[in-house]
Amino acid sequence: MSARLIDGKTLAEELRTAFKARVAALAARGQRPGLAVILIGEDPASQVYVRNKVNACEAAGLFSQKLVYPVDVAQAEVLAKLAELNADPAIHGILVQLPLPRHFDEKAVLEAIAPAKDVDGFHAENAGALAQGAPRFIPCTPYGVMKMLEANGIDPAGREAVVIGRSNIVGKPMALLLINAGATVTVCHSRTRDLAAHTRRADILVAAVGKPRFVTADMVKPGAVVIDVGINRLPPEEGGKLCGDVDFNAVKDVAALITPVPGGVGPMTITMLLANTIEAAEREAGRGGDKRHA
Ligand code: NAD
Repeated sequence: MSARLIDGKTLAEELRTAFKARVAALAARGQRPGLAVILIGEDPASQVYVRNKVNACEAAGLFSQKLVYPVDVAQAEVLAKLAELNADPAIHGILVQLPLPRHFDEKAVLEAIAPAKDVDGFHAENAGALAQGAPRFIPCTPYGVMKMLEANGIDPAGREAVVIGRSNIVGKPMALLLINAGATVTVCHSRTRDLAAHTRRADILVAAVGKPRFVTADMVKPGAVVIDVGINRLPPEEGGKLCGDVDFNAVKDVAALITPVPGGVGPMTITMLLANTIEAAEREAGRGGDKRHA
């Protein structure tokens, strides 16, 4: 058996095409959604992510502002800029690219973003709203995963879902979204004993670990839906290519549906960032952003 691919690239393109009408409706009211992206330091992966986010904004007709700081910038300077952006009517969404340099207090920085502009959904207020089942901004990566499930006719209600990873960015919000959608959810992490015993029960398996080919075929239930969030760069001796957390070539023969890397969750993450920014602008314009239109 060979699994059917869940094509994130095509779905991302479809959603981005659908966003055009919403951006045009805002433009007719004299509004243009604006996203400010703050990058601190010179981490090569972060530079690529920020460039991709800014380019996606331009292509979708959004205004974007990129603010780059040296690695040794004082936290106070960044906090002052965030206060300025919070008050700027041209900016509807603000994101600070993670990870931050060591001398930063990540929580203090994320909490300094106005919740109404927190399009990454990492502010405690937005994380709390998600935990209560009434989300305002959903973190982009797990939001994208839910859209992929929906677009492929997979209703999590009543299914066993296993999430590997418990980060605030992916694993935890992913688990909450699946709970809110009616799945029975197990969250596995670095302290989990007998990981495979859990993963083998999963109808929906989400891997967000950060280790190349970590999920092997023997860890997957035949007929499962496998979502690979991982983005890992293989060493030069292995070709230097991007690789997910799932051993794709082996797992595709066990799973029913599987996301590729690249071309799976990655393009959906940026797409949902656009969705959240457009929604922030719609709320600001008093149009009432609605998740059903995303
Ligand atoms: P993280 O390092 O914050 O979290 C990794 C999680 O994996 C931790 O909760 C840890 O407990 C768990 N883990 C580590 N070793 C384990 C083990 N042996 N067994 C079980 N669990 C283990 O990473 P993150 O920010 O959540 O990202 C995870 C992956 O997803 C990375 O590869 C990252 O690059 C990728 N990512 C992709 C996107 C995207 O757009 N596709 C977005 C964000 C992150």
